[in-house]
Amino acid sequence: LGGRITAALQSMTNATVIDEAVLKECLNEIASALLQADVNVKFVKEMRDNIKKVVNFDDLAAGHNKRRIIQQSVLSELVRMLDPGKPAYQLKKGKPNVVMFVGLQGSGKTTTCTKYSYYYQRKGFKPAMVCADTFRAGAFDQLKQNATKAKIPFYGSYTETDPVKIAQEGVERFKAEGCDLIIVDTSGRHKQEAALFEEMKAVEDVVNPDLVIFVMDSSIGQAAFAQAKAFKDTSNVGAVVVTKMDGHAKGGGALSAVAATKSPVIFMGTGEHMDELEVFEAKSFVSRLLGMGDMSSFVNKITEAIPLDQQPELLEKLSQGQFTLRIMYEQFQNIQKMGPLNQNIQKMGPLNQVMSMIPGFNEQLMPKGMEKESQARIKRFMTMMDSMTDEELDSSNLKLIADPSRLTRVARGSGRPLRDVQEMIEEYKKMSKAWNGMKNLKINKKGMLNPANQN
Ligand code: GDP
Ligand code: MG
Repeated sequence: LGGRITAALQSMTNATVIDEAVLKECLNEIASALLQADVNVKFVKEMRDNIKKVVNFDDLAAGHNKRRIIQQSVLSELVRMLDPGKPAYQLKKGKPNVVMFVGLQGSGKTTTCTKYSYYYQRKGFKPAMVCADTFRAGAFDQLKQNATKAKIPFYGSYTETDPVKIAQEGVERFKAEGCDLIIVDTSGRHKQEAALFEEMKAVEDVVNPDLVIFVMDSSIGQAAFAQAKAFKDTSNVGAVVVTKMDGHAKGGGALSAVAATKSPVIFMGTGEHMDELEVFEAKSFVSRLLGMGDMSSFVNKITEAIPLDQQPELLEKLSQGQFTLRIMYEQFQNIQKMGPLNQNIQKMGPLNQVMSMIPGFNEQLMPKGMEKESQARIKRFMTMMDSMTDEELDSSNLKLIADPSRLTRVARGSGRPLRDVQEMIEEYKKMSKAWNGMKNLKINKKGMLNPANQN
């Protein structure tokens, strides 16, 4: 009996140790992803501590998907951190909603004001924009141009230097005209400074907004918390918009902005154009932050299409290491043979099937409705690659591949302008990134592809 108890205890101890190790390893991985995405160091630690509390070790011991269980907890923990507990002010029909935008200079306020107006215009509101930025030269012209393009009434002045006066006059006028969404664009400064906050406060006092929206550039990194806090301390911020989410995969500052302002993120700016504004969805945002959403659905898709151990070609290529221009060339050859991707997916070889399922691959190479142009583009790329040496085609060293004198030589050899060659290299970089993402789905001993994020 004693022996059995000891053995049971022993195995229990072992199991716990293993699960804790798995948890630790997982959390390390996740923490590093979050830090890279600019999530505040403090929140990453908080998240870790909370996860350790909520993860149920019994589940871990019994379940096969340890990593998945942990990741689900991380996901919901981060989603929870993005939820300040109360929704943002909802615009009401039949009354003039006054919405004021604040944020540093260059954060994207004026652009976002237009996007926001345009968004609600399509929802049946009657928006108008007031330019209370008298600080930045050309601010009124910028707003005027944007508003005109979107066919939205605007108000501002070239001569008046008092933003408070303009704000007051503008809001009054549009109220009188029966606009039900009056947007007040304010000025920013390069830094959080007293003059800006005094001005902001004065404008806020006079327009008495229903909602103050803090606009934050997603690329500011770890500075997000302090910046958001500074605005919240002066202004009655009730919602956040993070901009420039198209520039890079980061965006962890959004968590900081929520914590600092105790307000939800309502939209994301994803480009310079009027319609590049997305309703913020915490769950997909977090998946993107962790870089797991795309990859896990990708892996699911592959497994549905072909059993992974039946993909010797793919496994061999992946095990060969880096993505090279030659692999790209071969992909192009196949695409040319096949015509539009996906439509012919059944006819493709396993490697192509897999490649075509890498997130971003398809849309990039063959945007819908652009098949003809895409084929021509691919053909151009191939012509240029024909002018490359074996050394270049088989290298994955960007210094060598993108060496300016080599690019000039390729341009001359293929009779294409240099910018075409540069475009081809950009394409290579993108594909290479997708390829490395796929490589990171570790290959296990049986030669099976293992998504890195599952057990
Ligand atoms: P403001 O000083 O806060 O009013 O900022 P602006 O609206 O003038 O924007 C500053 C710059 O950022 C402009 O060049 C905008 O076109 C650009 N911008 C704003 N939002 C976005 C976005 O979501 N994506 C990209 N790529 N650029 C943006
Ligand atoms: Mg502006």
